Amino acid sequence: MTSGRAFVQELNELKDLLNSPKKIIITTHHKPDADALGSSLAMWGYLRKKNHQVSVITPTDYPGFLKWMHGEEEVIIFNEGREEEAAKLVEEADLVFCLDFNALSRINELGEIIRNAPAKKILIDHHLEPEDFATLSFSDTSAAATCVLIYKLIVGLGDKSLLDTCIGECIYAGIMTDTGSFRHPSTNKEVHLIIAELINLAVDISSIHRLIYDNNSESKLRFLGHALLNKMVVMPEDRTAYIAISAKELEEYDSQNGDTEGLVNFALSVDNVVFAAVIIERTESVKISFRSKGDFSANEFARKHFHGGGHKNAAGGRSDLSLDDTVAEFRRLVHEEYSTELNTIKLTDRSSC
Ligand code: 5GP
Ligand code: MN
Repeated sequence: MTSGRAFVQELNELKDLLNSPKKIIITTHHKPDADALGSSLAMWGYLRKKNHQVSVITPTDYPGFLKWMHGEEEVIIFNEGREEEAAKLVEEADLVFCLDFNALSRINELGEIIRNAPAKKILIDHHLEPEDFATLSFSDTSAAATCVLIYKLIVGLGDKSLLDTCIGECIYAGIMTDTGSFRHPSTNKEVHLIIAELINLAVDISSIHRLIYDNNSESKLRFLGHALLNKMVVMPEDRTAYIAISAKELEEYDSQNGDTEGLVNFALSVDNVVFAAVIIERTESVKISFRSKGDFSANEFARKHFHGGGHKNAAGGRSDLSLDDTVAEFRRLVHEEYSTELNTIKLTDRSSC
């Protein structure tokens, strides 16, 4: 989306739409992470400065370690008894910004309310294979984070001067987490140049790091200990590791929303492993997080076998089987159908100097 006529045309159309005060809704995916909430609140802060009437609606709650973001206290959480109010706001909106998700099914019941609303829909996202529902679409699957796209859009709209510390903090949080603290392959020169601009806005990067990562409850760390010591299974022949967690264990460890985030990265960090999964028995269904290294596509695996999707190296999905049957199916797939491919994955070492 960063160049080309289509992009310039869509940007100009967006500029025209934002030229007069509008009623605007911003929404983002189920269980928002730092990129989802950060991009939403950065956009909220920017659009308010442009004198629009703006509300952020999330389908569900988000983790406590995001509750420092400027504007967070005004977010309307759809499934916390605010369905009617949210539906009315969507009905009356002129514009609905859909951030950090690629299909309306990713925002639960809110999806159909938005699909049927008269508002123009503006998609800003970096997930693979976006659904074609938006009036204007700023989809860039190579972008490190939706927050990168928000920064570039604000600058592209000629409003760099409206960026401030509060908006910058939200953008920083999204980029920091979606790049795995600047280590995923998506971390390019442009990412670092944007971060340099955010530092210029007086964004305190160590505080944000601390607010997000050094904010563990004791029970979350005990749970992590249990998961690594007792639950992680490594399949060295298939270069795969996984952790399966039952609903009972979540309860025993008093696991809170967001407490299982990042767990899958520990499994992926095992030496020689290139594919990892965390399989969790949730109330609705069994949820799975997938991560991969190199050219093995977690997205395709999730899409093909577990009703999911995401990015090449980070995807998610669900299963309607029991936890045990899901684990058995996962093991079977990895061992019988993917072992050869997993064993051909080459990881590039640093170039010789
Ligand atoms: P996580 O494992 O952190 O929940 O998700 C990793 C990535 O996959 C995120 O970009 C997320 O949006 C995407 N993802 C997670 N679950 C699903 C799902 O059920 N369906 C689709 N299409 N994407 C998902
Ligand atoms: Mn994202």
